[in-house]
Amino acid sequence: MKRVYIETYGCQMNVADSALMSHVLEDAGFRTTEDVQEASLVLLNTCAIRERAEDRVRARIRQLGQLKRIRPDLVLGVTGCMPKHLGKELLDRLPQVDLFLGPDSYRRLPELVEAAAQKPTLDLRLDDEDYSDLDPVSVEGVHAFVPIMRGCDRFCTFCVVPLTRGREKSLPLDDVIRQVESAVAQGARAVTLLGQTVNSWHHGAHRFVHLLDHVSRVPGLLRVRFTSPHPAEFEEEVFALMAERPGLCPQLHLPVQSGSDRMLEAMKRGHDRAQYRSLVDTIRRHLPDAGLSTDIIVAYPGESEEDFAETCSLIEEVRYDSAFLFRYSPRSGTYAHRKLRAEEIADEIAAARLQRVIELQERISHERYTRWVGRAVEVLVEGVSRRDPAHLVGKSADGKTVILPGGPEIGTLVRVEIGQATSHTLLARGVHEDDPVPGDRAVEQLEV
Ligand code: SF4
Repeated sequence: MKRVYIETYGCQMNVADSALMSHVLEDAGFRTTEDVQEASLVLLNTCAIRERAEDRVRARIRQLGQLKRIRPDLVLGVTGCMPKHLGKELLDRLPQVDLFLGPDSYRRLPELVEAAAQKPTLDLRLDDEDYSDLDPVSVEGVHAFVPIMRGCDRFCTFCVVPLTRGREKSLPLDDVIRQVESAVAQGARAVTLLGQTVNSWHHGAHRFVHLLDHVSRVPGLLRVRFTSPHPAEFEEEVFALMAERPGLCPQLHLPVQSGSDRMLEAMKRGHDRAQYRSLVDTIRRHLPDAGLSTDIIVAYPGESEEDFAETCSLIEEVRYDSAFLFRYSPRSGTYAHRKLRAEEIADEIAAARLQRVIELQERISHERYTRWVGRAVEVLVEGVSRRDPAHLVGKSADGKTVILPGGPEIGTLVRVEIGQATSHTLLARGVHEDDPVPGDRAVEQLEV
């Protein structure tokens, strides 16, 4: 029996893509293994969003090259955004690798693996592939990621995604619903809909709000989230629907990247600070307890101390529950890399700015988490705590990890009282067993 070992780097879309590759290869007679030593095919499914992600993959390829010296029949493949980003130059630079595939080539994996066993093979085409018929759903326990769109049409100046994943493609509504139903049949009680700008999903007469309406009515599904939306793509109807549907979780990731209008313009983000603040106000009007998170890049080329101060003041104003905070990482092929090299910020300034936003956000996260202490919170129980098997781990509706005492069944909704908070976790002191949460809540369909 041929065995494939897949290692995944980067975003949740890559996690879903790895599950897709695993399905395609299992249909062709492979078995997926967790043990690299017994694999005849090793795939590294990679990310190109930051230089550090590519460095990690290069180091891993060097390690696996040693395994290949002992087992020359092993086929080593690198898939995803990194080969698409770096292209043919990889063939010369990484002679240990037999197969390079971009994100639109996974359907052809079996034949390409065969070719790669004979000679180095590269397939980096971008086409209108959406894999909709292959059900690229990855179910882990009671949670599933369901890709609903691929690619991006926005071309922010720092980002390689439009170059590595191509233009936006939305899956048909029926395919999304079939995939969600299939995830529920495999045990999922919560799904996260995935896309690079997930809220720009549209198909025929259907817009994102209609998709949420349909998905939230799938029987057996308790919770629905989505990531990552683009702030400029939201329609207020989405928040109105989220406010009335218990299954649509009030958790929103709102990537802003900078609080400075000058930087937002330079990054070609498609909105300014005032529009973003107004979006946050609209969300909080409909969903006062929404959990908000963001992505921020500090030290984008040309960022002044004043620009950076604007980012800090935005963080203070919005008061995110959490944030992904990064230093600008130049990516070849992007506008910022081609045109703004001379304006890049010195390392020590960039590192100091990153440290300052991390400390700021840690303080705010702790305050945001602490406000739940003493309150009752509805939690979906997702598994057993890895640190302490006497406890369970779950998620609050607004996306916070909750540790609760053992007892309730995995996959059920329970109400707990929060006793303590850190800046990343809520600790429940008790489960309200006399106050169960209904598993099935009837709702009416929206009109299209
Ligand atoms: S919207 Fe997101 S994925 Fe698209 S180019 Fe901008 S940062 Fe990249």
